[in-house]
Amino acid sequence: MRMVILGPSGAGKGTQAQVLTEHFGVKHISTGDILREEVKRSESALCRAVKRMMDRGDLIPDELILSVLEGVLTDEENFMLDGFPRTYAQAHALDAICERLDTPITVAVSIECPDDEIIRRITGRLVCGKCASMYHELFLPPKVQNTCDKCGNALSQRPDDTAITVKNRLKIFHSLTEPVIDFYDRKGILVRINGLGDAKEISKNLIKALEEKINGHNN
Ligand code: AMP
Repeated sequence: MRMVILGPSGAGKGTQAQVLTEHFGVKHISTGDILREEVKRSESALCRAVKRMMDRGDLIPDELILSVLEGVLTDEENFMLDGFPRTYAQAHALDAICERLDTPITVAVSIECPDDEIIRRITGRLVCGKCASMYHELFLPPKVQNTCDKCGNALSQRPDDTAITVKNRLKIFHSLTEPVIDFYDRKGILVRINGLGDAKEISKNLIKALEEKINGHNN
């Protein structure tokens, strides 16, 4: 099964992607995590430029993100793409890659959340620098303060989680990524879910909606 998960940063994509990948037994591929790993690992001029774009909340050029993704997808039969595609051009390119691999996208998830709630949530968001698990000081606190429940690594705030950057990311989401959501809706493979409320309840509703959608396709 090949899934994509879409939504503004802060809607709960990362949290839901973790639950869904475990439930459906697919590999979680987050382009944001891949880029963060890459800029941490390398001091090249390209990586420094990518880090500056990320810290501002801007998108990395389509050609660059596509070259990264193409390398990752070659051997993957079952995956959930988190944070990709973010533009119409990326969505078309993903279709072309999937066609070449003979593995079309099965289903797309859109997690919907109002802008003011996104801004509220971003304050207090914490991430594990080692395994990329997400937490929130208020909504999803770790068992031990500032420590990842899964791997014990220290938690920190992302440099692109400031209010200014979040507003820039939201602007980009509305202008460039919303058309991607419509693109999957027109294909008939979109599941929309309300990202407000209890994360566990959202996961339950999401799994149910996805199973209905997937079974509907198979019938
Ligand atoms: P995320 O963790 O998905 O919020 O991504 C963090 C940052 O990585 C984004 O704000 C972009 O700068 C960059 N990024 C991640 N995925 C993409 C993508 N598909 N296209 C362009 N830039 C991306």
